[in-house]
Amino acid sequence: MKVIDLRSDTVTLPTPAMRQAMYEAECGDDVWGEDPTVGRLERMAAQVTGKEAAVFVVSGTMGNLTAVLSWCGRGDEAIVGDQAHVFLNEAGGASALGGVAYHTAPNDERGRLAPRDVEAAIRADNIHYPRTGLVCLENTHNRCSGAVLTPQDTRAVAEVAHRHGIPVHLDGARLFNAAVYLGIPARELTKDVDSVSFCLSKGLCAPIGSLLCGSGEFIRKARRIRKMLGGGMRQVGVIAAAGIVALEAMVDRLAEDHQNAHRLAVGLAGIPGIRLDPERVQTNIVIFQWKLGLAPELIAGLGQRGVKASYMGGDQVRMVTHHGVTAQDIEDALTVAADVAQSFRAAGVSR
Ligand SMILES: *Cc1c(COP(=O)(O)O)cnc(C)c1O
Repeated sequence: MKVIDLRSDTVTLPTPAMRQAMYEAECGDDVWGEDPTVGRLERMAAQVTGKEAAVFVVSGTMGNLTAVLSWCGRGDEAIVGDQAHVFLNEAGGASALGGVAYHTAPNDERGRLAPRDVEAAIRADNIHYPRTGLVCLENTHNRCSGAVLTPQDTRAVAEVAHRHGIPVHLDGARLFNAAVYLGIPARELTKDVDSVSFCLSKGLCAPIGSLLCGSGEFIRKARRIRKMLGGGMRQVGVIAAAGIVALEAMVDRLAEDHQNAHRLAVGLAGIPGIRLDPERVQTNIVIFQWKLGLAPELIAGLGQRGVKASYMGGDQVRMVTHHGVTAQDIEDALTVAADVAQSFRAAGVSR
């Protein structure tokens, strides 16, 4: 049986060009700053995000954690969206390891924070209050169906934060999906933030790695934090080489994932029992509600027919398109989804 794996774009495999580049990578001890391939990747990342410097980290989680610990001290608060990955999906690292409290503000359907909510969350200078150390944004927004923040959305929040002297970090795990959707360079989406992390290991297909980018001074601090977290790596050019291929060859093709996700969303929306608004699907993440039973049962039924989806809690199911999924796979997945949904309806009637 053919398997169509729509659980996440993290399931993407390194391409043949990546494996070749990994084989040939020039290496050195990166903790000593002597790995030329890592250096090249870091310079590329800084350039593409319009920042002075960048540091290669193990994961998006480590990139965000390193950023929060670099900006905030113990007892500080970080203002984050209540649907943010950094709040929901990173094991509370900033609190556990940095003594930083998360202060949530509501994300709207499109993953935005309202500037007035951010302003209300910023603490006044008063000995009773914690200090606000950071504001975090997320683009694209994982929990909000891959929604894209525009440069205007980002600037509106950054203006408020900066007026209060507070830096802004962007969790740009899927930054390039946003840039490709808007048809603008990634640096347009990062110019108003003080630091940004992005993942090589999702839609860009590299096996591992993220980059944290910011000013030279910020990145010097972040390197110390990365070392503290155990993320100082040695001959890691073997991995960085795949990341270079990811940035050079895998960004523009994200448009194909977006087309496939849109087709998937339109098809799913036509299946009785499934609720979603295809117009909300901007990039490669489709989240729908299953109304005729339990979502985990639907996911199990799809899985038996070779279509893998992930559970998002409540009645929500997530499907993500990526390099390993073709337009034909989407048509096949829709046929399976229609069949499985129909079988649930038939069982519901007979019950
Ligand atoms: C995946 C993801 C991360 C974390 O990346 P890992 O490499 O899995 O640690 C951070 N933020 C967002 C929005 C993500 O989707």
